[in-house]
Amino acid sequence: EVRVRYAPSPTGLQHIGGVRTALYNYFFARSMGGKFILRVEDTDRERYTEESLQDLYDTLSWLGIKWDEGPVVGGPCGPYIQSERLELYQKYAKKLVEDGRAYYCYCSPERLEKVRQEQIASKSEYQGYDRHCANLTAEERAELEKQGIKPVIRLKVPTTGKTTFHDVLMGDITRRNCDVSPDPILLKSDGYPTYHLANVIDDHLMGITHIMRAQEWIPSGPLHILLYQAFGWEPPVYCHLPMVKGKDGQKLSKRHGDTAVRDFRLKGYLPEAILNYVTLVGWSLDGQTEFFTKEELEKCFKLENIHVSSGTFDYKKLDWFNGQYIRMKSDEEIVELITPYLQKAGFISKDVSESERALMLRLAPSVKERMKVLSDVVPLSAFLFKDEPNQDKSAYIAKGMSEEQTAEAFKRGAEIILNNEKAGKPFSETESDIKKLAEDMGIKINGVFQPVRVAITASAVSLPLHDSIALLGLEETEKRINRALN
Ligand code: GLU
Repeated sequence: EVRVRYAPSPTGLQHIGGVRTALYNYFFARSMGGKFILRVEDTDRERYTEESLQDLYDTLSWLGIKWDEGPVVGGPCGPYIQSERLELYQKYAKKLVEDGRAYYCYCSPERLEKVRQEQIASKSEYQGYDRHCANLTAEERAELEKQGIKPVIRLKVPTTGKTTFHDVLMGDITRRNCDVSPDPILLKSDGYPTYHLANVIDDHLMGITHIMRAQEWIPSGPLHILLYQAFGWEPPVYCHLPMVKGKDGQKLSKRHGDTAVRDFRLKGYLPEAILNYVTLVGWSLDGQTEFFTKEELEKCFKLENIHVSSGTFDYKKLDWFNGQYIRMKSDEEIVELITPYLQKAGFISKDVSESERALMLRLAPSVKERMKVLSDVVPLSAFLFKDEPNQDKSAYIAKGMSEEQTAEAFKRGAEIILNNEKAGKPFSETESDIKKLAEDMGIKINGVFQPVRVAITASAVSLPLHDSIALLGLEETEKRINRALN
């Protein structure tokens, strides 16, 4: 049975790259009929935050990703939070010492620093711990213990030979043992494990069969293999995931834009869009299919289809996906989705009234066509909820138009539009009338539409004009136009 895990450290908000790792693990487990396990690697107590743990749970549940075993839901290999498993790590670290694979080290930070400085000064090729405590006699150790010094436990890394591990995407990766960090700490003096020890022990005890994680962990690979060997355990299959990059080819970071999933959520990206697009950054089924529901990915996700090269996260493409998913929603669903944004803007009340709901239902079809993200509803519909005329004269003037031309186009255009609306003519007729007017004046049609639009909605970017008029009502529309004309 396939058993995979997502093992984040709660030291920050869940970001695009992390969530992609979670999704790949989840979809792989589902498609193989296996188990998806969530494990919280919270042994770095200095960087741990409660907020990021909550954000982990919130993000996965927002995406609809349920874990089969892990915190909250439990499971046969629990607890799934590393800080609750300290005794286990201590027990296994001691066992390595007993087996001669690891040793106690009593060196003070001062001594370690001195060694480091000397290595730098002598330009020695050898960097790192000098294995001073590797061969202490029992007497020497007893003496140090008597002084009350709390030791760390270090792994004995072989000084000769090579270590190889196989990666599904990258093939064999080999490193000389002398290049693996010399004798890294496994257990700290306060009894907390380091990442390497806890990660290897848990993957083994939790029966993990495949490890899918970010490529930045490749350098840890040989060390983990050495740990598996020291324990006499079989390592799992490795599949390191290519990096997520921004358009400039650099690792995706805040410089490119939002990276925390929470920020996307707050702006009004839909979970379907994030899930779909993020999965496509570095994976494809057939090189062309773009739309996938969660249920489809649960069936068709294959490791072989993960790209070997890094994936590019394109914010515009995500916007496009999000717009598509918004348009797939029913008007009723749109009302539910936009309600919190309109409430936050103070446009509608906390307890949505019947008339507010009715207005939102009328708003839904046209706003649905224009939103990239749900929060766009606020600028797009502001004109309906507040009447704040645009005081900026230049806003009325379309590109290439003079002030005088604008005044004339506005006056004549508004008259046509109002008359046609009053007569109940279809808007297509109004459009051809405006076209004629524009031709007559030797201007572009936007030279007419823009001032009318700004007069009605106070903004040059808004809903289709006809929809705006219908939503606002003819009386209010006329009032705003007359006010702007004067
Ligand atoms: N806790 C590590 C992280 O935050 C897990 C790496 C791994 O999957 O082994 O990425």
